[in-house]
Amino acid sequence: MNDHTERMRGKIPGPDTGIAIRKSICTICDPDSQCGLDLYVKNGKIIKVEGSKENPHNEGTLCSKGAALRQYVYHQDRIRTPLQRVGPRGSGKFKPVSWEEALGTITNNLNQVKTGSGPESVVFFSGYSFWYRPVLHRMAYLFGSPNIITNASVCHLSMIFSQILTLGLPGGPDIRNAKCLLVWGTNPFHTRTGIARHILDAKERGLKIIAVDPRCSPMAAQADIHLQLRPGTDGALALAMANIIINEGLFDHDFIQNYTHGFDEYREYVQEFTPERGEALTGVPAEKIRMAARLFADAKPAALMPGSSPVVHNTNGLQNHRAAFALVGLTGNYDVAGGNFVEPLSYIFEPGGFITRETEFKHAKKRNEMPPPIGDDRFPLWSLLYDEGHAVHLPFQIQSGTPYPIKAILAFGINYRMWPDPDFMAESLEKLDFIAISDLFMTESCRRFADIVLPACTSVERSEFRCYPERYVIYTQPAIKPLYESRPDVEIIFELAKRLALDDSLLSQGFEACLDWILEPSGITINELKKHPAGMPVPNPITFPEKKYLQQGFVTPSGKMEFKSMLLEKYSKSFGYDALPVYRPPKYSRETTPELAKDYPFILNTGTRLPMFIGSQTYRLPWMRNLRPEPFVDLNPDDCRRLGIKQGDDVAVSTAKGSITVKANLTNQVQPGVVHVSPAYIDVKVNALIEADYLDPISGFPGYKALLCKVEKTNDKNDKKK
Ligand code: SF4
Repeated sequence: MNDHTERMRGKIPGPDTGIAIRKSICTICDPDSQCGLDLYVKNGKIIKVEGSKENPHNEGTLCSKGAALRQYVYHQDRIRTPLQRVGPRGSGKFKPVSWEEALGTITNNLNQVKTGSGPESVVFFSGYSFWYRPVLHRMAYLFGSPNIITNASVCHLSMIFSQILTLGLPGGPDIRNAKCLLVWGTNPFHTRTGIARHILDAKERGLKIIAVDPRCSPMAAQADIHLQLRPGTDGALALAMANIIINEGLFDHDFIQNYTHGFDEYREYVQEFTPERGEALTGVPAEKIRMAARLFADAKPAALMPGSSPVVHNTNGLQNHRAAFALVGLTGNYDVAGGNFVEPLSYIFEPGGFITRETEFKHAKKRNEMPPPIGDDRFPLWSLLYDEGHAVHLPFQIQSGTPYPIKAILAFGINYRMWPDPDFMAESLEKLDFIAISDLFMTESCRRFADIVLPACTSVERSEFRCYPERYVIYTQPAIKPLYESRPDVEIIFELAKRLALDDSLLSQGFEACLDWILEPSGITINELKKHPAGMPVPNPITFPEKKYLQQGFVTPSGKMEFKSMLLEKYSKSFGYDALPVYRPPKYSRETTPELAKDYPFILNTGTRLPMFIGSQTYRLPWMRNLRPEPFVDLNPDDCRRLGIKQGDDVAVSTAKGSITVKANLTNQVQPGVVHVSPAYIDVKVNALIEADYLDPISGFPGYKALLCKVEKTNDKNDKKK
């Protein structure tokens, strides 16, 4: 074999092989990772994918999903041209049309709804991708609709609200400087791999780890103390830890005395949660609760690392998370190095050490110049604290038409199975006059509901700006041309803005001009970023001081950290909210509905994340799907022995609402009495097991992770028939 052949086989870049490395980012899981990519490109095609060593966040690593990026980009299900529905809605019949025709049809339909029902009757929806959201937000407001709606309604926002209501400004864990990390309901080893590496490094330096997780996850395996609680009992565990910290005098006396509101009522309330009662409620041994509470309180500084959604996917989720965050204030670990440090977000939910005009850019119109967004009357705190409509209430408002009708959706990625009771969402979508969806793949939602489907492109086929907590920024250039007729989402938005005559000086100038405007206070420019294809350190990053509350107070109504939330109190009469972080078991549980629990004795979790899937996005990739070719339910072997279930048996998982059939996967990762089903499987509708209104009444978040179910082997029935 000659040298050239060997270099070709080794995919060595160089003029002789015609292979060049192009820098980009992976945004399959977004926005926490955005791992840097080295893409080996030959003749306009990606032939190899590696993590980019220059990127300080992933430092050359990729997770399994990112490593399968070529299968994602070149998948046969990519939408190739704009499509127009030709049969009845749901028939799945489409014909290719030109971009001109597709955008013209969207423009006409959106304008028709605007004239007939008002601009608020059009919903601008964003699914998983985040990069174009500021632009879509601006477009929605310019159009006159307050209804920019995203997956945030079921993702991380309730966790953020729990911090806002308790501490004012949210603070992230300062892992590098912490002596103890309380990892509450998250496993970064599967999706936030950069953070997982930081944790392992810190562990080598002596970091103590407490993991709160119903599963024996890879994160829990690294912990010094694993608190394996029953799903949905997080609030009781946090209150029992507070009981120890308060009664043993381990709390930060100065912080409590000078900077908190409602401590006396809180102290009185936590007396109910002795470690023994904590054990009865959560299943965690009282002695372990004591050990964890003492470790967290003694090891100063200590930080709480929350998951984006596991705790809040519960009918008492927001209050449970408030109880957990109360521990941060209780121990004086708020806004200090090594604790939960407050850093302003720079761009798209990430802190980068610089200030931007993102919010100003999004708010092209004042919110009070438009009608209230969807869900305002049902979840008033939602629209008070956040500038989006509530996705979970969307099907309810489509059905009721009150306070105003919803007639059309322009969606950039939408999966109706994200909603609890997806059939209710499907019925609701079918009632709309018009639906346009931009997506990478011809999904079930596109096939069933769309009037127009637009082909979007992946992150490696476009330019985008991102920042990282490591004080690093990147503006990518397309590594390859957009495949087929696909286009970047922002181009679609700009084109529609023009056709809808939104007459905006920023949107009309294009993406780079918009970014330059947003970034102006930071001194970062797109021109400068273009000189650094792999990204660059933030020039002159801002160093934020500790304990900013000493100067400016807490951003809460009392100006202090609130054990007793004044905002929640305001809604206590009208909506029944508790001001204290009161623990309530899940709406369907052994404690709340004992009769139901006799028939449905297991606790169901429909939100379990597996390392190779994120939502259903990567389920179609052969490398990923081969790891779990069929839909499985994770069951504890002890339960299976009792029920006569063996690995791979067909089992029915049923709630009072519905039933699905999946394969049994026996694993000690799950505790007895608890079952986990991933939402990734396209072949089963796991959220059909949940009622549409099985929600946290404060946040509106669905209780995906704590309800009752039963498990039965179905082969038995088949065997009997034979
Ligand atoms: S963690 Fe994996 S999926 Fe997420 S951005 Fe990095 S490589 Fe992509």
